[in-house]
Amino acid sequence: MSGTNAQGLSSSQGPAPSEGLPPSPGLSSSQGPASGGGDGTRAVRAGLPEPVKHEPALPGPVFAAHYHLPGEPTGPYNYGRDENPTWTHLERAIGELEAPGEDGAETLVFASGMAAISSVLFSQLRAGDAVVLPSDGYQALPLTRAQLEAYGIEVRTAPTGGDAQLGVLDGAKLLWIETPSNPSLDVCDIRRLVEEAHARGALVAVDNTLATPLGQRPLELGADFSVASGTKQLTGHGDLLLGYVTGRDAEAMAAVRRWRKIVGAIPGPMEAWLAHRSIATLQLRVERQNANALAVAEALRDWPEELGVRYPGLPGDPSYKIASQQMRRFGCVVSFTLPTRARAERFLHALRLVDDATSFGGVRSTAERRGRWGGDAVPEGFIRMSVGAEDPDDLVADVLRALDESAQ
Ligand SMILES: *Cc1c(COP(=O)(O)O)cnc(C)c1O
Repeated sequence: MSGTNAQGLSSSQGPAPSEGLPPSPGLSSSQGPASGGGDGTRAVRAGLPEPVKHEPALPGPVFAAHYHLPGEPTGPYNYGRDENPTWTHLERAIGELEAPGEDGAETLVFASGMAAISSVLFSQLRAGDAVVLPSDGYQALPLTRAQLEAYGIEVRTAPTGGDAQLGVLDGAKLLWIETPSNPSLDVCDIRRLVEEAHARGALVAVDNTLATPLGQRPLELGADFSVASGTKQLTGHGDLLLGYVTGRDAEAMAAVRRWRKIVGAIPGPMEAWLAHRSIATLQLRVERQNANALAVAEALRDWPEELGVRYPGLPGDPSYKIASQQMRRFGCVVSFTLPTRARAERFLHALRLVDDATSFGGVRSTAERRGRWGGDAVPEGFIRMSVGAEDPDDLVADVLRALDESAQ
């Protein structure tokens, strides 16, 4: 376990639990703030409606293309592309984790992380606007960039580490950051970048996929939007795609909602319900997986070959200092570089407890040679490993054995 971070916060507790209850009816006032302040408590109850006799705690998925609607079309539930009660519960749950205690924040769920990302970019930007994107971010961003440029939007890029975004901010409408970045695990100083961006009139969106809301809360650090793929550690079982946007500015969020309606990038009720069910175990999974990731990172660091291991929670990592200031947990992704492509392929083949697969955040460990996709600026032997919830000793032993066998 990582124990405490640099702010001295216990890794299992949110800051300032006495600040009051989150807005959800899921934490009934009879429980008091003391029992509502921890991440585990918050996660298991997140988004639950007030208990109703003979009803389940988490109502089942509502499958509806349309709802009974006699007379004037008032109220939220009219047509299934606009609203669904299963999304509403999930949106409340995510909102309670991303922005606990913030009444003004709003969350919208989407069919995937890319749907959420696109909805922010395309709803906020117009022809003639400039946007700053990471040059080392998620692999679909270059496709997004080409589409933004086709619509007459100026796209500037900057690497994540070192706050180089500051040099290209002037006149930009939106700053997009991904921290920690995927797959290189660099971080940038969210609070500093937000202050500079706001001073110059730019909005800030943070891709919070890798950290999850239990690892980092961008809105508390001043960002306007926290955007993420819920496909990864948020839901954690590798069985669904989901995305979300949490934001504080009502006007900006209305534009994001309108975009969701226009493109229809909506999650199915079954996916939304599964996601909500999965969030109940988020704190357990994150604690276990992130502790396992640290154990794997330490074992890789201590291996006799120099593997260039990266993990934001590893003391001495270039990301460690800023990560400790703004993150409460450091994620489940570890990266390292084997000397050649052939060695990396032998290593992946030799693993028994770690599947060779893409994506990350699931309870079952996966790893892949990232260079097989093209696109990421990484060496041929670069491995991205997503550490699961297995027993740490088993996992470390498997990784070390595969390193040893693949060296032959
Ligand atoms: C996976 C991922 C996305 C895209 O999410 P999907 O759910 O696959 O659409 C966006 N950003 C980051 C950092 C990701 O890892």
